Amino acid sequence: MTNTKAGWNFDNSYARLPDNLFAKVSPTEVEDPAIVVVNEPLAASLGLHAEVLRSSNGTAIFAGNALPEGSEPIAQAYGGHQFGHFNRLGDGRAVLLGEQITPDGERFDIQLKGSGRTPYSRGGDGRAALGPMLREYIISEAMHGLGIPTTRSLAVVTTGEAIYRETALPGAVLTRVAASHLRVGTFQFAAQWGTQDELRELADYALQRHFAEVDTEEGDNRYLVLLRKVAERQAALIAKWQLVGFIHGVMNTDNMAISGETIDYGPCAFMDAFDSATVFSSIDTQGRYAYGNQPRIGAWNLARLAEALLPLLHEDDDEAVRLAQDVLEHYMDRYHQHWLAGMRAKLGLADTEQEDEALIQELLAMMQKTKADYTNTFVALTFDRFDGLPLAEHEDFAAWLDRWLVRRGRQAATLDDAHQLMRRSNPAVIPRNHRVEEALDAAVKNGDYSVMERLLNALAHPFAHSAEQVEYAVLPEQQNCNYRTFCGT
Ligand code: AMP
Ligand code: MG
Repeated sequence: MTNTKAGWNFDNSYARLPDNLFAKVSPTEVEDPAIVVVNEPLAASLGLHAEVLRSSNGTAIFAGNALPEGSEPIAQAYGGHQFGHFNRLGDGRAVLLGEQITPDGERFDIQLKGSGRTPYSRGGDGRAALGPMLREYIISEAMHGLGIPTTRSLAVVTTGEAIYRETALPGAVLTRVAASHLRVGTFQFAAQWGTQDELRELADYALQRHFAEVDTEEGDNRYLVLLRKVAERQAALIAKWQLVGFIHGVMNTDNMAISGETIDYGPCAFMDAFDSATVFSSIDTQGRYAYGNQPRIGAWNLARLAEALLPLLHEDDDEAVRLAQDVLEHYMDRYHQHWLAGMRAKLGLADTEQEDEALIQELLAMMQKTKADYTNTFVALTFDRFDGLPLAEHEDFAAWLDRWLVRRGRQAATLDDAHQLMRRSNPAVIPRNHRVEEALDAAVKNGDYSVMERLLNALAHPFAHSAEQVEYAVLPEQQNCNYRTFCGT
């Protein structure tokens, strides 16, 4: 037990759910912990004092060598379809310390990742390497900067211990902050290995925790509302991913959060050249989780959630299926609406016209053909820099440009409004793979965190379009093609 001065203010509501859904387990102590990064703005928003977090006591907590006051540590059980195959899973290398109640009364899970073995570890060592934990830190903070719902990273500590993958690597623990760690797979676990009462308790918990604003009084079909709300949040989330060129890489059902946050930054990466077939993950040989498939995989995962919830939706099985199908059909429409609205904004269109979608699709087709950089093309359009673009070499570009400029000029919004809208909708910086690798190399090989710090500063305000950000728009010599990411690192 330790240090109230850091500002820890824990509740442990998940640990009060049926005990089939988790295992009580403490993090495993590590040899020689040292803090390498603390997220000060995030700490402040949680009501935590960064300088106390950096003390030896704070370090011990982030390493799993001490527990914050009020913590009842657990590992959560879940199932999941991994590349289509259903498995019994759970936090195999993570421990939920509890839920921090912020000064504003909000509730966030505080989870250690890489904190040792649990009853769900199967053959794994329960540990994580420094590089991948810093990678999660960088990309989750970039997503936050882009305004995309995401889990966040509060701190990374090194453990002073080596972990063994293909080679020996420095071990690390990441402290992850999430609206919750409820997953589609949590419901699959309860449906498969729990009782119907346990499933219902879990669903009631999710409703209360994430959809308290929803009117689910007696008589409403609360569980249908839950399914609809989760689908709505996923439609909005995946549209945001598509709009910035984010590829999650491992959209297994255990990696889809009920809260609508992006979770589990393993093999994710941002696309450079626009290509809907883009895949970075070394094990995704079929392209199941390719950029262009993400919206459909969202639907597939929601269908698995619907299956898990069926017994709660209606006592009549056929009626339950019909109700679920309605929601799932609606998801694709909602996804499409969010995507179209976002694409219009990227082109500075504040109102809607029937032909907008064709205009957008033609642009994307030209980008695909000319291997145009996704982010930089939209930035160039934002600042009317049409010459010298790879896209401009396309034979149809000049005609497209005329049509778009006429369309943009035809709206009630002024040209200045349109430019402002484009600036807000087209990021100047994304965490480009070569810049992320450069930051990780400096940190892991040389203990130099300054490269990562500069990158994080640029990523914190991606819509600033400032002079310092220009260097982050420079492309790698070889786009996309030979970049590979890895799961389970
Ligand atoms: P992921 O691919 O990161 O979503 O992980 C899938 C499952 O494998 C989860 O249940 C993880 O907890 C588990 N897992 C991943 N890495 C390890 C590890 N090093 N030790 C134990 N379990 C792990
Ligand atoms: Mg996972």
